[in-house]
Amino acid sequence: MPVEKTLIISTLFSATIILYVLTFAIWERRSTSGRAAFYFSLGLAATTIYTFGYGMELSNTTLEGVERWVRFEHFGIQMITPLWVLFTLHFTGREKLITPVRTVILFIWPVTMLYATQTLGTLNLAHPDPHIDTVGPFSTFDYTRGVFLYIGAAYYNVCLFTCMVLFTIHLIRSAPAFRAQAWLFWIGSLIPFIAQLVYNLGLSPYNIDITPFALTISGVIFSLGLFRFHMLDILPLARDVVFDSIKDGVIVLDLANRIIDMNISTQKMLPVVSKSIIGQPVDVVLAEYPALLDLINKGQSGSVEMDIKKQGISSSLNYLGTLSTLRDAKNNRVGRIVTIHDNTQARQLLIQLEELAARDSLTGIYNRRSFDQLAAQNIYTLRETGGMMAVIMLDLDFFKRVNDTYSHSAGDLALKMVSETCRGLLRQGDILSRYGGEEFVIFLPDTDEPAAAAIAERLREGIARQEITFEEHTFSLTASFGVASTVCNGLISLDELVHMADQAVYQAKQQGRNRVCICRSPD
Ligand code: GH3
Ligand code: MG
Ligand code: MG
Repeated sequence: MPVEKTLIISTLFSATIILYVLTFAIWERRSTSGRAAFYFSLGLAATTIYTFGYGMELSNTTLEGVERWVRFEHFGIQMITPLWVLFTLHFTGREKLITPVRTVILFIWPVTMLYATQTLGTLNLAHPDPHIDTVGPFSTFDYTRGVFLYIGAAYYNVCLFTCMVLFTIHLIRSAPAFRAQAWLFWIGSLIPFIAQLVYNLGLSPYNIDITPFALTISGVIFSLGLFRFHMLDILPLARDVVFDSIKDGVIVLDLANRIIDMNISTQKMLPVVSKSIIGQPVDVVLAEYPALLDLINKGQSGSVEMDIKKQGISSSLNYLGTLSTLRDAKNNRVGRIVTIHDNTQARQLLIQLEELAARDSLTGIYNRRSFDQLAAQNIYTLRETGGMMAVIMLDLDFFKRVNDTYSHSAGDLALKMVSETCRGLLRQGDILSRYGGEEFVIFLPDTDEPAAAAIAERLREGIARQEITFEEHTFSLTASFGVASTVCNGLISLDELVHMADQAVYQAKQQGRNRVCICRSPD
């Protein structure tokens, strides 16, 4: 046997082994990679049959032996093109075009042709006048080109050309991060197209069919793409302009938690993320965002808030990360999507809103609701240490007269100034609030009765000393004070303590106003 022939045959058998292994490797991935991997692996199986059959065909010297292997080969050859079409439609996200009727139409010619090829040796429908032809060092199978061959060539060329067009569109539309892979696929699909054209035009050396070689090269290129770039993993993703133009960050994960895609906003939002993370495990890439990783690793759809420090920005940014499941048209889980929304502005607004809701609009000090909340928080910690607490209540004296004599606006000003005075005289941890019209209540943590009484006295003097000027009038005010205090042991509630202070205020009013009265607790 000439050395060229030995070389070609051993190459074909090596290719057979490679294709055989790839067929199974990709078949294994069909659950995570979807229908595209399914059709691709069937296509590889068909190519394996073709390569092996062709190797056997070339090894045989008798016409009968050659014919047997040609018949065998065609079980693969005829299936490659329709499977390639189905794969391409899935891969380029056009699987909606596939309907049962169209699939049947797609297979009509290959099945007819398969039948015709099986008549080789009897009717010879597809291969009229079969014979062994010797060209140079080779004896190859040859036959007269007939109608089957021409229809077949037309079918294959239309199909393969359509696939080329689809791959070209895919290449043009693919995002920069995916360009390298798209080029690889484009070249991978071009090679067999050109090879079959060369062979069918009779341009191939020694009349050797170079298509199986070309198909093997493509098979390897595509499989490399699958393993290296995880390209088949989530194929029908909408990869268009919208993806990159949305403000929220979007990261697409496969079922093995590898990053298979992301948009430009993600790179802007998360400083550690760069283009080269495609294909990397999310655990490695997002290690700096443990809250987000936690959400991803839990595997359930949901949201998480993160505070992100960014260079050049003093306050931290607030992001909302959301995880959702990505499903294909048949509702199978194919991956997951992480979206990242910049919540900073909304958060700031919320904080402002909460701040507004916590404060009295006229005086700016806490209102009754936040007094209750903040005091309760204090009591919670005080109970652990068994500390003291005190409440001072104060009610302005004859305030109605202020309104009546100097106007309601003068009264408002007086309320503001009294608040200011109290604020200036109290300690940092004391909680000053406007309890109602001209009543104020103060919570004093870690304060016993004498200390609270002293503070109340200080406030009384401060208010009495203060002169209020409104328009042409200058006047001053006094207030009556009630003080109540207790050990923080849960026996007396905050409401009860406030009530006790209120009663002491009543007492102070009774005793002539502008004074501090203490409500002695029963213990
Ligand atoms: P007493 O010494 O017994 O406390 O006399 P008083 O006049 O202060 O008592 P009273 O409860 O009869 O009157 C409270 C007044 O406080 C009546 C109300 O018009 C006034 N007031 C309550 N809230 C405001 C406010 O927001 N602005 C102004 N200007 N006045 C208010
Ligand atoms: Mg009052
Ligand atoms: Mg009053």
